Amino acid sequence: ATRTRSKKTCTVIGGCGFLGRHIAEQLLQRGYAVNVFDIRTTFTDDRIQFFEGNLCQTECLLPALEGVFAVFHCASPPYSADDRELFYRVNVDGTKILIAACKQAGVKRLVLTSSASVVYEGKDIKNGTEELPYAAKPIDYYTETKILQEKTVLGADSADLHTVAIRPHGIFGPRDPHMLPTTIATARAGKMKFMIGNGKNLVDFTYVENVVHGHIIAAEKLEAGSPVCGKAYNITNDDPIYF
Ligand code: NAD
Repeated sequence: ATRTRSKKTCTVIGGCGFLGRHIAEQLLQRGYAVNVFDIRTTFTDDRIQFFEGNLCQTECLLPALEGVFAVFHCASPPYSADDRELFYRVNVDGTKILIAACKQAGVKRLVLTSSASVVYEGKDIKNGTEELPYAAKPIDYYTETKILQEKTVLGADSADLHTVAIRPHGIFGPRDPHMLPTTIATARAGKMKFMIGNGKNLVDFTYVENVVHGHIIAAEKLEAGSPVCGKAYNITNDDPIYF
């Protein structure tokens, strides 16, 4: 990777994933140098420095965090994994390891990709704000660990390491491996001929570049005295989508 000393470097943990790669690309467009840390390498880009490793291992993380301006944490086992132990190991324990490694490396800014489902208990939410309490009964293990992960990251906010959480719901856009392929497969299987509810069920999808923009401007504001520190932010497009 070509580096100039004047560029600030950001590290994207999970940067080979759907969202992470978009974060890496928008960071490059905004003039940052970019490190990608992921357990797998799925693409190449001469402008990016790639680090392959498991975020649960401090010794893997540290080289990717050295001299870094901001860390974006958007790694997670896939929602479909349905593996309680894996979700706990990566999302909860791994996030604690990442926080400690950030502090050890002297990183000052950490942006977490959380999820809107941290406040969802199965009942419709309209015009929900960040004041809503965490779900007392999360709908699944994934969500249970996303709540613990968000609490851990926001609880770690301090003078040493400023933290913020961004909460998207569904994300769509180029290279989406989840939403559109699943919808098409469901339709192909003939399972879209039924309607559950009255056709007014609400769901929120946000365009990936808007989700990324929210992450980057949060990172840029994440400094001592900023109201952003230690907070969670919902992120959405303007209009609700009826599903
Ligand atoms: P993704 O599966 O495409 O990407 C996740 C990346 O994390 C993958 O590249 C994977 O290899 C990496 N990873 C997993 N375990 C790892 C480990 N132990 N060490 C290092 N890397 C590891 O998922 P995505 O859709 O890009 O989601 C990114 C984040 O956004 C996740 O935290 C997810 O909870 C959150 N989120 C996604 C959506 C959505 O609709 N896609 C909605 C809300 C929240």
